[in-house]
Amino acid sequence: MDLKLSNHTATKAEVQAISSVLGDPDSTWRGGDRAAADHHVARGGHSLRDQRHRLLPVLHAVNDRVGWISRGAINEIARRIDVAPAEVYGVATFYGLLSTVERAERQVHVCIDLACMMVRPDAEPLPHGAHESPCLGLCERAPAALLIEAGDPQVQQVIAPATPVAVRAALAGDLTGDAADEAPVVQGVPQCADGAIDDLVLLGRIGRTDPTSLDSYRSAGGYLALRRALDIGAVAVIRELTDSGLMGRGGAAFPAGRKWDAVARQPARPHYIVCNADESEPGTFKDRVLMEGDPFALIESMTIAAFATGCEQGYIYMRGEYPRARRMLTNAIAQATARGLLGDDVMGSGTAFHLVVFLGAGAYICGEETAIFNSIEGFRGEPRNKPPFPVEVGLFGKPTLVNNVETMVNVLPIVLNGGVAYARRGTSGSTGTKLFCLSGSVARPGVYEVDFGATLRDLIDLGGGLTAGRTLRAVLLGGAAGTFATADDLDVPLTFEDTRAAGLSLGSGVVMVLDDTTDLTAYVRRIAAFFRDESCGQCVPCRVGTVRQEEMLDRLAAGATAASERDLMLDIGRVMRDASICGLGQTAHNAIESAIVKLGVMS
Ligand code: SF4
Repeated sequence: MDLKLSNHTATKAEVQAISSVLGDPDSTWRGGDRAAADHHVARGGHSLRDQRHRLLPVLHAVNDRVGWISRGAINEIARRIDVAPAEVYGVATFYGLLSTVERAERQVHVCIDLACMMVRPDAEPLPHGAHESPCLGLCERAPAALLIEAGDPQVQQVIAPATPVAVRAALAGDLTGDAADEAPVVQGVPQCADGAIDDLVLLGRIGRTDPTSLDSYRSAGGYLALRRALDIGAVAVIRELTDSGLMGRGGAAFPAGRKWDAVARQPARPHYIVCNADESEPGTFKDRVLMEGDPFALIESMTIAAFATGCEQGYIYMRGEYPRARRMLTNAIAQATARGLLGDDVMGSGTAFHLVVFLGAGAYICGEETAIFNSIEGFRGEPRNKPPFPVEVGLFGKPTLVNNVETMVNVLPIVLNGGVAYARRGTSGSTGTKLFCLSGSVARPGVYEVDFGATLRDLIDLGGGLTAGRTLRAVLLGGAAGTFATADDLDVPLTFEDTRAAGLSLGSGVVMVLDDTTDLTAYVRRIAAFFRDESCGQCVPCRVGTVRQEEMLDRLAAGATAASERDLMLDIGRVMRDASICGLGQTAHNAIESAIVKLGVMS
């Protein structure tokens, strides 16, 4: 590797950060001491390039410790893992949480996305040093912000509610009082607070057990499902999953049993398992609540999945803005490993399973499964063309099982009680229970678990009804990539089949309630800006279409009335839907079309 951006060199702190991930350099070619073999030949190129999957962790290490990634650090990383500096730079500039420009060590990221913009529509300009951020996944506590302070260790602190006073205090290094406290997880689960928890399948332990304690988890039935899975065997586990009718909860609603079976049957080895915990859809926060409140459940579920599909290595790909979830899972993995529930011999069964948390760095597109693979492998998090599908050619080119957090934790009741018993709840086409993220103009925003078939009206009632004195304008269902429902849709059963028939979308379970005071034009323009920002730019329909879509909305908002303007925008939406590579481009027009056609926004 002989490409160099410049002759900049890394600082001592940057070198320390790099070595904390890669270890000390072992030859003079990598900046270490001269060894006998170094005199005439460069060595280790192949093995060094095999370190590429450490690129994002090492960029994180520098960024987290120093606050940004200098040209010198990029050169040093390039030399240490034998990747061209331009490629290191390309990856570093892909992620919103990483910076290649010098900046202050203390940053406050203030959410400007859908739930937060509703509660501060006339927000004053952000104080110097604060940055606008897409959805932080804290919608039930809107308005929210995240303090990030570089150092060893880096500090991340949620600020909610992010009042102007609290944001200024955080920037001044004086975050005190309520804003500095971690809100209890149960705040997002009012069903628990009300005591009506007996029916809860997925949220039942949250608020009742200590998420930091394996013993507490086991005392509430933890690891009984894994025991049963090991007893009945891998084939029977997949049969139970198929019998359950479980559909993926990430938005695509693919039958989980079919996916697991496809991975298990692949002759290529090794198999990998990836839990998609990059929950970044605006309005979505249920996976955060699960990971913060019941982390061992995710680990146990993934262990069962790994056993059933023949995976020995697993990754939890988590968005970088979930500090509490990361702490909970890291602690839970360490405890499970120490007690023989992870590692070379899980529960004495002879089955090996190793699990790590892999941290994303602020890129919505990394919630797309193939973008996760590129991100873990050390490339820009751009989606791959499908086919081949991940079950055949996934992470590192090997068969890979990908499920999101909510899908995964459904495995426990299925294995424990049997797939047929699980399927008794919900409807024949949408079995089990579903988590919904209720936010916006409701009295008690939070995560709610209901049987499939409950209606929007039921959900809003569970959340205490609309904010006092307000009337319903619309409900954004399924997130920024979803659709708008109106008062006419309040009694549509929330199932995959019924919402599809009604022209709605369950998506990731977002239920954001908009009232008569919501500025719908601003709301829709924010959705367009979000997709324009988050498009990875790899394919033309999405890269150009999301920009043109936003421009046209701006013109319509400014008073353009030509019918051709609207028709052109709807046409661009169709092209994006038909010709984009991945789900982002295919769905970036959904909510906007729905707002124009169904709500009459800007018409
Ligand atoms: Fe990237 Fe958009 Fe194409 Fe997806 S559709 S690959 S996000 S440009």
